[in-house]
Amino acid sequence: MLALLSRKPLSPCLLARLSLSRRFAIKLLTLDIETSPNLAHVWGLWQQNVGLSQLLESGEVISFAAKWYGEEEVEFFSSFHDTKPFMVQRAHELLSEADAVIHFNGARFDIPHLNREFVEIGMTPPSPYAQIDLLKVVKKNFRFPSNKLDYVTKALGLDHKIHNSGHTLWVKCMAGDFQAWEEMKAYNMQDVVITEQLYDRLLPWITGHPSTGLHDETEGHSCPNCGSAELEKRGKAYTSVSVFQRYRCVCGKWSRGNKRLSSVEIQGVK
Ligand SMILES: [Zn+2]
Repeated sequence: MLALLSRKPLSPCLLARLSLSRRFAIKLLTLDIETSPNLAHVWGLWQQNVGLSQLLESGEVISFAAKWYGEEEVEFFSSFHDTKPFMVQRAHELLSEADAVIHFNGARFDIPHLNREFVEIGMTPPSPYAQIDLLKVVKKNFRFPSNKLDYVTKALGLDHKIHNSGHTLWVKCMAGDFQAWEEMKAYNMQDVVITEQLYDRLLPWITGHPSTGLHDETEGHSCPNCGSAELEKRGKAYTSVSVFQRYRCVCGKWSRGNKRLSSVEIQGVK
C-alpha cells in the first residue's frame, strides 16, 4: 500500500513484465522532433506583427529521435548528421511501422510538422497509426501549475530534460557547428527517454489507448492499455441499460468486460 502512496515509479520488475507483455502485442514508437525557427526581416523588437512578405525562410524539421517500446536503443536522425531527405524518409518508415505513436504535444506539433515534410517532397501518408499524446493526458486528468514536459516529469520524480543553451544552440546548429549538434542530439534523445518514462507512469490514466488485446492471440479479457491478462475482478460496471464485470489490472488501469452479465451473475449466485 505504501508503494502505491509514494511518488516512486512502478517497480522495474512490474515494468519489465508490462513491457514484455506489450512488446509482442503492439508496436509503440515514442517520437520527438526539433525544428528550426522561422527567419524573417523585422523592423522592431516589441509587439511585432510579421507579414508573410517579411518571411525569408520557414522553420522546418531539423532532427528527430525515436524509440521502440521495449527496446533499449534511441534512434536519432538529423539534417546535419544525415541528409534532410534521408531523415524525412526514415521518419516516414518508422511511423509506417508503428501501431501507435507516443509523443508530448505531437498531435499539434510533431506529427503535422512531419506530415508537411512528407507532402512537400511528394510522399503519401504513412500507414495509419494511433496517437497517444501525453500532453492531452496530463491536461485532461491533472492540474499541475505547468503542463510542460520538464515540469511534469520532475514533479513525478522521473528524469528531466537536459538543459540546453537556448536560442544560441539553434543558431549554432543552423551554422553547422558540430559541438552544438552534439548538444542538440543529446537533448532530443533525452526528450524521447523521458516521454517514454512519462508514458509508463501515466499508462493507467490513458483513456482510448489503442487496444493491445486486439493484437495478441490470447482468449478472454486483457487490459486495454498494457495487454496484461493479470486482472482482478473488482466490482461491476453499470451503464443505463446493462451491467458488466469490472476489472483492475496490475498496471492500475480499470476496464470492463464486453459481456453483459445476467441477473444471476450480478447477484453473485453463480
Ligand atoms: Zn494493464
